[in-house]
Amino acid sequence: MREVKNYIDGEWTEGKSETIERYNPADQTELVAIVVGSSVHDVDEAVFAAVKAKKKWAQTAAPERGAYLQKVAHLFEQYADELAELATKEMGKRFVETKGEVYRSAAILRYYAGEGLRRVGEVLPSFDAKNLFFTKRVPVGVVAVIAPWNFPLAIPIWKIAPALVYGNTVVFKPALEASATGARIVELFAEAGLPSGVLNFVVGRGSTIGDAIVEHKNVDAITFTGSNAIGSEIAKKAAARGAKYQLELGGKNPAIVLKDANIEFAARLVVEGAMKQTGQRCTATSRVFVEKEIIDVFRAHVMEQVKRIRVGNGMDEQVTMGPVVSKRQFETVQRYIHIGTQEGRLLIGGGASDDVGWYIEPTVFDSVSHRSIIATEEIFGPVLSIVEAASIDEAIEMANDSIYGLSASLFTNDVSKALYFIEHIEAGMVQVNGETGGAEPQAPFGGMKQSSSGTREQGQAAIEFFTAYQTISIRPHPNM
Ligand code: NAP
Repeated sequence: MREVKNYIDGEWTEGKSETIERYNPADQTELVAIVVGSSVHDVDEAVFAAVKAKKKWAQTAAPERGAYLQKVAHLFEQYADELAELATKEMGKRFVETKGEVYRSAAILRYYAGEGLRRVGEVLPSFDAKNLFFTKRVPVGVVAVIAPWNFPLAIPIWKIAPALVYGNTVVFKPALEASATGARIVELFAEAGLPSGVLNFVVGRGSTIGDAIVEHKNVDAITFTGSNAIGSEIAKKAAARGAKYQLELGGKNPAIVLKDANIEFAARLVVEGAMKQTGQRCTATSRVFVEKEIIDVFRAHVMEQVKRIRVGNGMDEQVTMGPVVSKRQFETVQRYIHIGTQEGRLLIGGGASDDVGWYIEPTVFDSVSHRSIIATEEIFGPVLSIVEAASIDEAIEMANDSIYGLSASLFTNDVSKALYFIEHIEAGMVQVNGETGGAEPQAPFGGMKQSSSGTREQGQAAIEFFTAYQTISIRPHPNM
């Protein structure tokens, strides 16, 4: 069991309001963390520390800022097992999944360490021949990082790393369900010697301290990943006071399987896309549109794949799907499964058990209309809907008939159809013959429509959000 405190100006401090007990979603008898529930006053202190540190950090040479990230990357690898175990016990996904996330985080840290050596501006031609005319990227200032629980390591890192390397100071608020993992991340930055006040950490309930962070006059930018409901409120509040904001939100990601595809392969990847991490990925496959000529064969392969899934505690090596994160998520997913039994045909799964942990069977519905509730709303659980399509055009039309546009995939062996899909699908992340999930540190990540506020995270695209442009003219003395 870990006691999770705030980290403000280089000191671990008690919160001022309450303590919150957090139990392992795989085994509700195991107390994983006691988290301080911070107050608005704690937020003030954290922001004050970030403001105090910002000038010196912005003036620190960028390669030196990057060197801290290198050290943290190394520490992530050194403590890989311990970090993965903590994350698994705190939010339930399998140890192999959290361990993969540890290494992914290390790769992200190394990528952004390298950003400390790359260009941060360009020289432009000028109508005045003597003008040295150039742009320079400068830090935004104090950045608030508000993260969800489903990638408790990688998402905080892909926000904190670019924020720091581009010269910003940070106030980091993890999801309540990822507080202990968040604290461990901050400990590693402290172990790497990051100066006090550069990275501050405030834990507690978003409902209590969220507004204080988002509306704080000294928070210059907010990078948020989470639900559309909270994200849209953050956008309004940030815009009202002219603060920069970045939102990565929900998804209802489609896969399309054409009759020329390798059907067994497609079924395997669609099930993987839907059930990996218990379906709790913003990029999870939740709708699959299948050409009618192959739907019977596809359905049979899906059943076969789902039957192989073993639900249980993510620390058990034999288990292939962990619990959902919380009672709230357990109830939400069950509610959607109930709706699904009225809207479609339950092909497999549908069961749930809360005797030990929050366990839900991988569930597939068939004969679903693309406009039904289960095929339009984000469920964020191990539930897949199969929808019959008459053609690639109908499949794409139904796939695009969504408020979301995060990721999409197509299974085909016809390159012309792949190109047609890429041209017409409304999604930020597009896969051909791959599952809907997946991101790499060097590539921009994000969605279209209501899945994102439009900017991109990761890769060099991150510079857009974490810096501001300065456009500079230097002219010689008129006599020169
Ligand atoms: P959430 O409930 O919206 O919470 C996200 C974060 O916001 C948490 O840290 C939460 O704190 C905080 N928060 C809560 N109320 C707030 C408020 N009033 N002001 C400011 N912050 C507040 O989302 P979640 O359940 O953690 O994550 C699941 C959602 O994230 C899904 O919709 C999923 O699709 C989305 N997601 C998107 C991406 C992407 O890249 N597009 C990636 C991963 C997840 P508490 O935990 O203390 O409430």
